[in-house]
Amino acid sequence: MGTSPSEFDLIDRFFSLGVPSHWPCQGIGDDCAILQIGSHTLAITTDSTALSTHFLPDADPVTVGYKALAVNLSDLAAAGSVPRVFFLAISLPKADESWLMKFSQGLKEAAQEYDCALLGGDTTRSPLVGQERSPTSLTITAIGEVNGQALTRKGAQVGDDIWVSGTVGDAYAALMIRTGQWNEPLTQALALRMDRPTPRVQLGQFLTQHLASACADVSDGLYQDLCHILQRSGVGASLWIDAPKVSEDLGKFPLEKRRHAQWAGGDDYELVFTAPPSCRQQLVNWGRTHQVPLSRIGKIVERDVKFYDQNHQEVPSAEFKGFDHFQE
Ligand code: ADP
Ligand code: MG
Repeated sequence: MGTSPSEFDLIDRFFSLGVPSHWPCQGIGDDCAILQIGSHTLAITTDSTALSTHFLPDADPVTVGYKALAVNLSDLAAAGSVPRVFFLAISLPKADESWLMKFSQGLKEAAQEYDCALLGGDTTRSPLVGQERSPTSLTITAIGEVNGQALTRKGAQVGDDIWVSGTVGDAYAALMIRTGQWNEPLTQALALRMDRPTPRVQLGQFLTQHLASACADVSDGLYQDLCHILQRSGVGASLWIDAPKVSEDLGKFPLEKRRHAQWAGGDDYELVFTAPPSCRQQLVNWGRTHQVPLSRIGKIVERDVKFYDQNHQEVPSAEFKGFDHFQE
């Protein structure tokens, strides 16, 4: 790990300006800012992605288009909102029509699937750095509508259960295999989890019905994103290291790799959330009906974060630190 400040130190020190808003609002610190406009509550998020950083340099442009929007919709899901509209600012090294055609196709697929309209944006040429233009980068701002109380990362209470949706770790495993760092076989299911994340939009909306006390989406790693909930809520957690549901493919990998992928790997776009034990049955029923696995992975405690295995033995957690753009 490097010694430079983390992404989150930078946000605290340089981007928390403290200038108040004239609208009732909540932000910075959650997956979305929440704005109250008249009788409407809006959830707003913005995320940047760049080829060679968030995507492999030769990523399929259809995948780039689809995933660029899907990751923003995942933040809208974490707030429990219904996706409505988005804006796209894109910076291109050249007007490559064949790349753009496929990119646009992927973007449209996600927009149609989640019923979210593109209302504006900006198109520019990327800057020259030395002899070459920097790779394509894009920023999407997405707006959703919240019916009821928006979910935030703050509100987890001591005694709450901790849950995660889906199977985490698959996207990370696919990345490790594609970059040659792991030599297990790349199955189609793992590749799809990396290329076509499923923002848990319906689950997020369900959780606003007095179920979840706090929620975040898993973009940088389950442990790290859960830690955001813990920090914002001022609590700790006891975690059962092997409790998150594992996919059939990742389940065949060696235990240490599987654990690392599940807790430290990013790019899953599942929801991690806390809820009182009285909600267990409702959550289990929802998971069954919608065929989305919901795993109970631990409990909120007063302080500290500790991992336990099936024999109640404590497992060191340092290796589960997630992704940070400024630490290498
Ligand atoms: P996410 O992973 O859901 O996109 P992060 O955990 O990266 O969110 O960001 C934490 C919080 O910091 C969010 O509320 C985000 O809006 C805010 N944030 C990140 N970068 C900036 C910035 N440059 N200026 C202001 N707020 C920022
Ligand atoms: Mg997020």
